[in-house]
Amino acid sequence: MDSFNSWHLEYSYTELPEQFFTRLNPTTVSRPKLLLFNTELAKSMGITLSDDEDMLAQLFSGNKLIEGGDHIAQAYAGHQFGHFSILGDGRAHLLGEQITPDGRRFDIQLKGSGPTPYSRGGDGRAALGPMLREYLISESMHALNIPSTRSLAVVSTGDGVMRSSQLDGAILTRIASSHIRVGTFEYANRMMGREELKKLADYAIARHYPELTDLENPYLGLLNAVIERQAKLVASWMHVGFIHGVMNTDNMTISGETIDYGPCAFMDIFSMDAVFSSIDTQGRYKYGSQAHAAQWNLARLADSLLPLLDEDTKSAITLAEEAIASFGDIFNQAWISGMRRKLGLLDEEAGDFSLAQNLLEWMQSARADYTRTFRDLSQEILPENDSYQLPSFQEWQTLWHKRRRKDKGSLDASIDLMRKSNPAIIPNNHHVEEVLSSAEDGDLTPFLALHEALQHPFDETPSNARYRNPALLPDPHYQTFCGT
Ligand code: AMP
Ligand code: MG
Repeated sequence: MDSFNSWHLEYSYTELPEQFFTRLNPTTVSRPKLLLFNTELAKSMGITLSDDEDMLAQLFSGNKLIEGGDHIAQAYAGHQFGHFSILGDGRAHLLGEQITPDGRRFDIQLKGSGPTPYSRGGDGRAALGPMLREYLISESMHALNIPSTRSLAVVSTGDGVMRSSQLDGAILTRIASSHIRVGTFEYANRMMGREELKKLADYAIARHYPELTDLENPYLGLLNAVIERQAKLVASWMHVGFIHGVMNTDNMTISGETIDYGPCAFMDIFSMDAVFSSIDTQGRYKYGSQAHAAQWNLARLADSLLPLLDEDTKSAITLAEEAIASFGDIFNQAWISGMRRKLGLLDEEAGDFSLAQNLLEWMQSARADYTRTFRDLSQEILPENDSYQLPSFQEWQTLWHKRRRKDKGSLDASIDLMRKSNPAIIPNNHHVEEVLSSAEDGDLTPFLALHEALQHPFDETPSNARYRNPALLPDPHYQTFCGT
């Protein structure tokens, strides 16, 4: 057995008041088998383990526990599709916080590792397909330079899980700079007193925003800092056509990392109304509503922080409202900066916003593929495609060329910027479904090939050519599912 010498685990979360968590161990599984292990991520966290796959399977299934571990499930609440619920880790166990050699702290969490007091009737388990999906997409987001939780391992359990049919069970090891959510603050504010809420806020500041500690009002600083990170995060989703799908307040982190890859998807044909999640029947979390949804969630964070913002409730509300109102400008600024990069615009001009907007409107009317269009624009010569012959496109292109010529930098610099900003490949829905279906049938090879390609999304290589083309006929009924 490995000696686990490279683990440097701490358990700082357990120093919070005990209402914030429940101590418990994962439930053992029958026949754990290691399917995926992210060696590079492990290395970057200072974890070196033997390559004994059985040992890794025991470890990342929760069957073998690290000595002295203080394992917990976290309590939290959340607004789900606008409705408040008490939630908590219903199928996850936090193994501890790894301190990396350069002093960073990361949660190591098993997901699908058995029931907890927060399971609310659920079985505490997860099916193989969704855990592989989270591994693939979270690691792809990281490679796209978008803040995200990471995936360290997937182990199949050897136990079936009952969903609409019997499926293979699996456990994902998730790495996050923390699992503190907007919903954790909602929980503290509604279920505990000001003292406990303050402890949570102080903990979050120390862990994620230590520079705020000495501010006159660190809690207002915390609110503003989370607003800024989330506004920038959602702008970066918009830039790559990512639809989170279930932007409930329990799925929004204080750290600003994307979390909870349930029914998410990357858009193919551009539409502001794109929505893939089977449960989002009203389109609450559709592509074009993500900024609004984030701001709504942040208003729930602001509500929860009111007791700390000011002793006088009226003043606290004023501070909260001002902070929430700042979201729009921060988001718009982040959005247009990213769109300038996507359009190869090196300087800033007042008309850039409408130039970008007009392209999106054209894409929506021409039913153009989002990723493909931006990558095509990044070529020196636009590839042949009937839609680029349309007068509506050519009019836009003339304006774009004219605008680009105003920049002081060279055309080469512009093209270079575009190739670094417009991915050649993203996890296309049809490729994701294809590789997951093979994996569920026992063949991981296509999954591994796609995963490898997605580690270098801005490259165009012979080996990723097959992932570059969108589906000939994207499935208009493509649906993604939650909580499976
Ligand atoms: P999610 O939609 O994945 O964010 O999950 C919402 C809540 O449901 C969280 O509290 C999860 O822990 C819980 N949950 C999801 N699936 C299960 C399950 N199979 N068993 C127990 N709890 C679950
Ligand atoms: Mg969740």
